[in-house]
Amino acid sequence: MSNQDLDSIRESVRQLCSNYGEDYWLELDRNRGYPTEFVRELTESGFLTVLIPEEYGGAGLGVSEAAVVMEEVCRSGAHAGACHAQMYVMGSVLRHGTDEQKKTYLPAIAAGELRLQSFGVTEPTTGTDTTSLKTVARRDGDHYVVNGQKVWISRIEHSDLMVLLARTTPKEETRKKTEGLSAFLIDVREAVGNGLTIRPIESMINHHSCELFFDDLKIPASSLLGKEGEGFKVILDGMNAERILIAAECVGDGRYFIDKASAYATERTVFNRPIGQNQGVQFPIARCYAEVEAASLMVEKAARMFDEGLPCGAEANMAKMLASEASWRAGDVCMQTHGGFAFAKEYHIERKFRETRLYQIAPISTNLILSFIGEHVLKMPRSF
Ligand SMILES: Cc1cc2nc3c(=O)[nH]c(=O)nc-3n(C[C@H](O)[C@H](O)[C@H](O)COP(=O)(O)OP(=O)(O)OC[C@H]3O[C@@H](n4cnc5c(N)ncnc54)[C@H](O)[C@@H]3O)c2cc1C
Repeated sequence: MSNQDLDSIRESVRQLCSNYGEDYWLELDRNRGYPTEFVRELTESGFLTVLIPEEYGGAGLGVSEAAVVMEEVCRSGAHAGACHAQMYVMGSVLRHGTDEQKKTYLPAIAAGELRLQSFGVTEPTTGTDTTSLKTVARRDGDHYVVNGQKVWISRIEHSDLMVLLARTTPKEETRKKTEGLSAFLIDVREAVGNGLTIRPIESMINHHSCELFFDDLKIPASSLLGKEGEGFKVILDGMNAERILIAAECVGDGRYFIDKASAYATERTVFNRPIGQNQGVQFPIARCYAEVEAASLMVEKAARMFDEGLPCGAEANMAKMLASEASWRAGDVCMQTHGGFAFAKEYHIERKFRETRLYQIAPISTNLILSFIGEHVLKMPRSF
């Protein structure tokens, strides 16, 4: 797609977002509400389903275009965390689902009749050490029976489907620790009350994250996504797209903070001159601008490689790390530029500041990215 086409996506997303001003997001943050109308409009306009192939009712575009959508959503002051998962979780169904699964789910997701917003991997006792997770799915005739616990599973209360990762073969009985895990596409509507209990977590941002308890949840064997024992691959395939899209959101957040900081520094007068005339105020904003622009180039590179089918684990990880750090620094500088007013909710900065902080921790923390680069790119000794 040409730069002109990307600019036209940008402009359309900007227009859509302008119907949902910052007060809309502030109110949701206060009430812990979900942006149902916004997500509906983003879906109906085709932006949330850009990655779904045309034969299933989507736009059939790439991660480069999807990244532009997410960046603009965040730049408008919105919180994309309410809906971004639909883009990348759907990729697991697309790449690993059977024809039957694809025909059943993808057109309905593209039409906005089904929501696939949830992705269940993290567990309270094992955290980042994914292959040690303890949730178990045991085959029982035409069913699997799931037992275990997950934590921080976002948007599950606003999703009809969830992709779940569970162990089907004990780790001790596998050759490699990544084997013996399986992915399942679970119908949340049928599961709740029949072995799945959901408990919301009160958290720093309005991200709708929950604890999940599985107590003999019976799911049809046809819920299996990909091959039994190869679920790690199913999940991993979606992770590069997830990292690139979240990095794009951070670029959007960074640009939001820089727009706000530079405008305020120009208009706010103290000691009879605009505060931005002082280099102590101006230079940190300029530095953040340079950092966000550099991160944006890495996002573009990773997205292009993803769309060309090239291995892009290192680029996707680096994009996520650089962009999440750049957006956080831009948020901090934006806070400092606004002085005391940064703390007033009506300025919206403190909300975005809290929201962008997440991305140095989730979906993967910075240390784990550094360890990936150290081990896989620079070939240094493995640490865990
Ligand atoms: C708001 C929110 C939403 C989330 N949504 C989802 C979701 O929808 N689905 C889902 O599955 N998960 C979700 N998560 C979970 C998220 O992916 C994890 O929190 C994240 O991967 C980190 O895992 P952890 O919290 O268990 O940290 P831990 O694994 O306990 O790590 C804690 C700290 O120690 C560091 N650390 C750990 N081991 C090492 C090591 N060997 N070397 C160096 N440093 C190390 C980490 O970098 C981290 O900083 C969400 C989390 C949050 C906060």
